[in-house]
Amino acid sequence: MTAPILKIKNLTTCFATHAGVVKAVDNASLDLGQGETLAIVGESGCGKTVLALSIMGLIPDPPGRITEGQVLYRGQDLLLLNDKEMQKVRGNRLSMIFQEPMTSLNPVFRIGDQISETLRLHKKMDAREAREAAIEALKLVGITNPQSRVENFPHELSGGMRQRVMIAMALVCSPEILIADEPTTALDVTIQSQILRLLDDLKKRMNGSLLLITHDLGVVARVATRVAVMYAGQVVESALLGDMFKEPLHPYTHGLLASVPRLGSRAELIPVPGNVPALTNLPSGCRFHPRCSHAFDLCREQEPQLLERDGRRIRCWLHT
Ligand code: SF4
Repeated sequence: MTAPILKIKNLTTCFATHAGVVKAVDNASLDLGQGETLAIVGESGCGKTVLALSIMGLIPDPPGRITEGQVLYRGQDLLLLNDKEMQKVRGNRLSMIFQEPMTSLNPVFRIGDQISETLRLHKKMDAREAREAAIEALKLVGITNPQSRVENFPHELSGGMRQRVMIAMALVCSPEILIADEPTTALDVTIQSQILRLLDDLKKRMNGSLLLITHDLGVVARVATRVAVMYAGQVVESALLGDMFKEPLHPYTHGLLASVPRLGSRAELIPVPGNVPALTNLPSGCRFHPRCSHAFDLCREQEPQLLERDGRRIRCWLHT
């Protein structure tokens, strides 16, 4: 990979809870290259969304706090920026599409006004220019009759159209990095497919980079260049898509891939046994050891570190 456009180094994000302080993201390191799509996968509660919000500077403090690490965008550590400086980056150079458009769009403003606001803030456009750019953005994401759609309120649109509006809002300032958090979860299968194709097309057209958060390995196989697997707040493996799908090294990645149906295959699906541990009650040593069929004494006693080897990263005692 050429020098990554976004480099996350040893990032740790904690939350104060009634049961004590938990590390929702623990010592995460990841790289996103120019033009790449990095998919972050893992079960619910593994820290994927907290990682994305940490990159965007959107962790509510309190109860959350980034306690360690760096988020380097073109070499500049975003964690050292003040609120005003970060606002200039957010929505402009880095943008995010949230999981549920109905809760992310403001229900009392017309969608045209919501898109225009970003342009007026970051690009200093006047009202007329911003409205024209908003119409162009809606056209770009495949919304028909954009001239009249700008007048709609979010509740007047279907789920698929609202997600397209979210994408238009995120892309309107041509960000270099787009973070999409489960962008297709709330949509039916045919619309999911259209939205994924749209994201991929737009990323290529803008020569941007996409950080895609998903629990769906089918989605990963279709659009990712590189994959990172998270488990209980930690990155346990990251590699190029082909390498990971051909030869998963971490037993958890292996388990995830074995539990996904493949077209034309009669192989039995094997679910990963057990459940993800609560962050307030993590097992000793390797966090995956109670579910791992390869676990041995060292796994129960000491936590493995994330090590880099041959362009891959792996956190497992079997690969040290
Ligand atoms: Fe399994 Fe041990 Fe590797 Fe953890 S460190 S994934 S328990 S083999």
